[in-house]
Amino acid sequence: IYILAIESSCDDTSAAVLCNDHVLSNVVATQQIHEQYGGVVPELASRAHQQNIVPVVHQALAKANIDKKQLAAIAFTRGPGLLGSLLVGTSFAKSMSLGLGIPLIEVNHMQAHILAHFIKDTAQKRPSFPFLALTISGGHTQIVLVNDFFDLEILGQTLDDAVGEAYDKSAKLLGLPYPGGPLLDAHAQMGNPKAFPFPKPKVDGLNFSFSGLKTSILYFIQRETKKQPDFITNHLNDICASIQFTILEILMDKLKAAVAQTGVKTIAIGGGVAANSGIRQRLLEAESSMGWSTHIPKFEYCTDNAAMIGIVGYYKFLNDEFSEQGIAAKARYTL
Ligand code: ATP
Ligand code: FE
Repeated sequence: IYILAIESSCDDTSAAVLCNDHVLSNVVATQQIHEQYGGVVPELASRAHQQNIVPVVHQALAKANIDKKQLAAIAFTRGPGLLGSLLVGTSFAKSMSLGLGIPLIEVNHMQAHILAHFIKDTAQKRPSFPFLALTISGGHTQIVLVNDFFDLEILGQTLDDAVGEAYDKSAKLLGLPYPGGPLLDAHAQMGNPKAFPFPKPKVDGLNFSFSGLKTSILYFIQRETKKQPDFITNHLNDICASIQFTILEILMDKLKAAVAQTGVKTIAIGGGVAANSGIRQRLLEAESSMGWSTHIPKFEYCTDNAAMIGIVGYYKFLNDEFSEQGIAAKARYTL
């Protein structure tokens, strides 16, 4: 069966066509407009989705070489995300399903980041159930126990900032352009991770906190630049490596605690920060040092994309889980 999937939760407009669990096309239009503001401006994001959605869907169908009459269902992101952005994809999916007379399938964006591992692709090995999913993105940081496709339990999550936010805000303090996460990662690879120790937050259980780190980085930079005005320029790689080291320690500590708590040693990461070179390296090391089985999706399925919405749509289709026309977008939508 062919499924068209639509994703518009934040600042990327994406459409994909899947044939069962194979991706035939996965088109993503990234919005550049937000860069000059140093963060996503919701109203501008909605407007850009409005402009992008028709051409992106057309491209996805054309690339897949599929006529819309062959589609069996339309899957869309219902939430969580920016309401104005979600509304564009939701309304588009609803009207297209009505026009074609085919079922509509609502998808939770965070579940999609996790089930992206089940996209059939030679570059991906699927995790076996049960597994622990560490979702690290621009808006979320969660450890989820995944017993089955639709049996997910959040074991811990961030109490304040998400990891991606911590990366972007730290990068901003260092004068790097938005989104700074990938740039901070690039500089980190050339620096000494032990150069400047930053404190790790004390958070009970499997929850996370990243706002304290941001504050200690701010104070550290203010203090050092007072002594040495060119401090950031002179030590950029070492500062980035030290920030990255602290973030990785926080993530790995919680993962180890989750493994100890559940006895589950299969780990799957997802979300935009899964593109980070450091977390990839740490997980590979954990395979040999701790006997974990680790799974990292292909890069294009880590950042926001419609293919991951399509794979959830496919499993929901098999389960006969369809949505009514009256369904509404949901900005806050927990797993
Ligand atoms: P959510 O899924 O929670 O709604 P989102 O969809 O906005 O959030 P993603 O697109 O999954 O987030 O991820 C974007 C985040 O990933 C940004 O904060 C970006 O800086 C970060 N990121 C991307 N690549 C890297 C990298 N190599 N190292 C660190 N962070 C990275
Ligand atoms: Fe996302």
